[in-house]
Amino acid sequence: MNEKPSHDLSPGHINSCQICSAAELIPVISLGHHAPCDSLLWPAQLQQPEKTYPLNLVRCPDCGLVQIDYVVNPEELFFPEYPYRSGITSSLVNNLRSTGPTIMDRYGIATGGLAIDIGSNDGTLLSGFKDAGMRVLGVEPTNIAKIANDNGIETIQEFFGEGMAKSIVSKHGKAKVVTAANMFAHVAKLGSLIRGVEILLDNDGLFVTESHYLADLLDTVQYDSVYHEHLKYYSMRSIIRLFDYYDFTVVDVDRIPNYGGSIRVYAMKGKNQHVNESVSCLLEEETKAGLYDTPVFDRFVQQVRDSKKDLQKLVVDVCAHGGRLVGIGSPGRASTLLSYCNIDPDLMPYIAEQSTSLKLGLFMPGSHIQIVDEVRMLEEQPEYAVMLSWHYWEPIVAKLRVKGLRSKIVLPLPTVRVLEP
Ligand SMILES: [Zn+2]
Repeated sequence: MNEKPSHDLSPGHINSCQICSAAELIPVISLGHHAPCDSLLWPAQLQQPEKTYPLNLVRCPDCGLVQIDYVVNPEELFFPEYPYRSGITSSLVNNLRSTGPTIMDRYGIATGGLAIDIGSNDGTLLSGFKDAGMRVLGVEPTNIAKIANDNGIETIQEFFGEGMAKSIVSKHGKAKVVTAANMFAHVAKLGSLIRGVEILLDNDGLFVTESHYLADLLDTVQYDSVYHEHLKYYSMRSIIRLFDYYDFTVVDVDRIPNYGGSIRVYAMKGKNQHVNESVSCLLEEETKAGLYDTPVFDRFVQQVRDSKKDLQKLVVDVCAHGGRLVGIGSPGRASTLLSYCNIDPDLMPYIAEQSTSLKLGLFMPGSHIQIVDEVRMLEEQPEYAVMLSWHYWEPIVAKLRVKGLRSKIVLPLPTVRVLEP
């Protein structure tokens, strides 16, 4: 193996692979310049300039990592008022809560041990561990940490790193499980994170990460999951390559439905661990699917462009014929989709969100479409509603139908589809 690259990225343009430092990155698609997807705007901020950054997807011919080539300062992305809350999407809540018991069963982890979640958000994942009898501790840099603490999940509000790992061990002891769910692909100081986890974990401890999975992204044309927070788009091959640089062995993997298709990757300390055959099976599937070959990416890019044209045509046609069209749901990925497809408030006057959302009254970055309580959509009954949380559409649409929504529902991806009421 070559000398170990630094996995702690500095803000700015990246010109070598984030994992293996290979210099010749291959362009996949350029989505243009975008504002950070969770930097929602207050009305007064609409009078100010808005910062945008390039959003280019590239891939490494060596380790296979698909990645973006620009790092925005994490303090700018994960600011204290960061509005994302995992505990309000019901299908996600169930998946997150079951994570702890699933891991404990599978690896025979005894109750009473310490479970730590890095990027613990509102503590939903840890509540599953807690209910199963573990001691729990969260680490979360944004104000969402307060919600977790209020709900009885002890949470440190800071960015995680080696220094914090040492102080946690001195106060709470070593951990039996450390999880990093849906933040592992988002962290710029990844080297510091992994070294911190080495410090935190007991010798027989388990490090479990969850990341959006490249094969699912490509299969279902999820270009909207490309945004600045999301630096890496992992495959099995690239994540194994990453852990090879550290004193960890990737021992197991599951494919899970979270966020439109993710992989849960299990790693243990040391290099001589038993590896479950799930790992070699998935590696083989990736090779068979051509996940490291040009044609798969050419097809993806064609599908992205086709879906953009189809969605633009539908939206413009509806408006040209006097129809009303709104959006449903404001996940981070909606920013990428709306900006890339040039959909603005003239075409989509508002986006409807659940009454419990922290985003009501704010404006989407880039497109400046306002987020409003779904009550308005239910009163107005627009002819069309574009499902921006399309990766979770079924339970959301079912709920809205029960509440009386009669609009036609537009699913923007993987291909544009209209669901009649
Ligand atoms: Zn690489």
